Amino acid sequence: MAAIQVSWIESANDPTSDFPLQNLPYGVFQLGGASHLCTAIGDRLLDLHGCATDGFFKGLPQPVAEACTATTLNLLLALGPTAWTSLRKRLTDLLAADANDSPLQGRLRPHLFQQSEVRLELPVSIGDYTDFYASIHHAMRVGRLFRPENPLLPNYKHIPIGYHGRSSSIILSGQSIRRPCGQIKLGDHDPIFAPTRSLDFELEIGLIIGPGNTLGQPIPVTEAEQHIFGLCLVNDWSARDIQSWEYQPLGPFLGKSFATTISPWIVPLEALAPFRSPAAKRAADDPQHLSYLQPSHGALTEIDLTLQVYLQSEQMHQLQNAPVLLTTSNLKNLYWSPAQMVAHHTSNGCNLRPGDMLATGTISGPQRGSEGCLLEMTTYQSPIQLPSGEQRRYLEDGDTVILRAHTQKEGFSRIGFGECAGTILPAQPIS
Ligand code: CA
Repeated sequence: MAAIQVSWIESANDPTSDFPLQNLPYGVFQLGGASHLCTAIGDRLLDLHGCATDGFFKGLPQPVAEACTATTLNLLLALGPTAWTSLRKRLTDLLAADANDSPLQGRLRPHLFQQSEVRLELPVSIGDYTDFYASIHHAMRVGRLFRPENPLLPNYKHIPIGYHGRSSSIILSGQSIRRPCGQIKLGDHDPIFAPTRSLDFELEIGLIIGPGNTLGQPIPVTEAEQHIFGLCLVNDWSARDIQSWEYQPLGPFLGKSFATTISPWIVPLEALAPFRSPAAKRAADDPQHLSYLQPSHGALTEIDLTLQVYLQSEQMHQLQNAPVLLTTSNLKNLYWSPAQMVAHHTSNGCNLRPGDMLATGTISGPQRGSEGCLLEMTTYQSPIQLPSGEQRRYLEDGDTVILRAHTQKEGFSRIGFGECAGTILPAQPIS
């Protein structure tokens, strides 16, 4: 087996690091009041804007070097896979130890920063955000709450279900979430306007769209992945009581749109290539996909990505209790693949644009301990017990929710996603 290529940035070679040389996720950070593109390497980041203006991208196509001096990733997203590969290869060459050239390293050093010492920003200007419902285990468990006899609606195995979310309230990991107020209907009483009593997280993965499509021209499922730049963590915060009163007949609205948190790093699809395998066969009695959702060569694959949710209450924080693991799921728990989401979304001619985000919907597994949200855990008799002695059904003020993701296998570097975290603030008093 070939040895794993290492970096001259030592922290990138730590086997527990999220950001080895093989990851190189993209983000944006603030430098001298300006927004600069960057890539994460170990505990550092490399300033791509600085590299571009300092001539490190000489020989790359001009639009690639230019895109690296933009203030968001959107220009780079629009360029497509060939451009992404050329930049990724150059960054790998610059940061690999076998390019053991100390003058080069000396020239690069001024463009390296400690991640802990800079402020990261939203990496993408997200024009449109669509949220799917692609995990069948989530659909089943939630469906069972309302229709114990018939949890899965008849359309589920035929069509990827989704709705249009709100992009203006997409925020970066670390930003606090104000508990929303809304209409809540309790039992037979008239609805009241009050702070939500059932604030929840949703464990999701976001697909960041690269090149879009012209209005009226669908993207074939076989080409769909060329339109996906990379993946990030998404917490689609939800107010279940607001949601359950408002959602009929048009679907989610204010119970969802108050905040959606994403992680600061976009992991390129290319970095995840070694962790793919053929998609599990569907059950024998599952309906055949319609042809626009089925690649002719049957090459649907899935990514073995472990997903975790941690919770730390304010009291746990004060007692210095580490965040407690609530759930462990996997991207393989999706019934519909990212390629199918893109193909379905554009099948009516709707145009996607660079920087749009499609989220998978809550990713839950079949077994206990793999629920992707608290709503699913309310089906159990006993509430969640925290190390501080507190209990939870839903989130309380001061709670911090942290999503993490990583993939790992023998002979390859561990690829991590960093963190997607948010803390709940009390509701604004209602005047
Ligand atoms: Ca969702």
